[in-house]
Amino acid sequence: MDDRQRQEICDYGCRLLADRLTTGTGGNLSVIDRHEGVIAISPSGIPYPDLEPEDVSIITRGGEHVAGRPPSSEWQLHTTIYEQRPDVGAVVHTHSRYATTLAVLGEELPPCHYLIAVSGADRIRVAPYATFGTAELARIAAEHLGNDWCILLANHGLLAAGRTLTAAYNVALYIEEVAEIHWHARLAGTPQLLSAAQLAAARERFASYGVRGAGKP
Ligand code: 13P
Ligand code: ZN
Repeated sequence: MDDRQRQEICDYGCRLLADRLTTGTGGNLSVIDRHEGVIAISPSGIPYPDLEPEDVSIITRGGEHVAGRPPSSEWQLHTTIYEQRPDVGAVVHTHSRYATTLAVLGEELPPCHYLIAVSGADRIRVAPYATFGTAELARIAAEHLGNDWCILLANHGLLAAGRTLTAAYNVALYIEEVAEIHWHARLAGTPQLLSAAQLAAARERFASYGVRGAGKP
């Protein structure tokens, strides 16, 4: 795990606040180095602007703490997803307002905007509630994530995954935007949802959109 990856955790942690995807010490993020078998994860309960790269926690895939400050209370959420999904290189967990509003209502985010395609799914499902920081939450979240890139956590927040931290972060950012748009559209009227064929076409366009690692999932 090199310094660049620890710095990336600090930088994206600050972006969680700047982009209003969380407040205070809420949320957490990690990257895995599958070659070395270690994970760099934000430490528990430390304000993101106070984080220095050496504070970033390094844990094994089994959760053993090997360097930095003690890991996020959600370390099992991260390790469980890395075990289940060999294609995942980074995990971002937020408490972003509109996604969490839907999660509190127990409502899925339907395909109201083409950007939902970044989740890899036609809708963002809600994983049932479990206490934060538990193996139970990790198990339920991983089970409901399946092969998608995003899931809502009932009465808690959002979980996004990606091949890189940039990709996982952008899934969290775009899905929060879609959740906000859906919320306003629903208050104003009846959202017109996209068909499976329209979503498939959007996903196809994403395959040739932008530069990998610079914003695409
Ligand atoms: P940590 O500060 O331990 O990462 O906890 C924040 C959080 O979002 C718990 O779900
Ligand atoms: Zn949380």
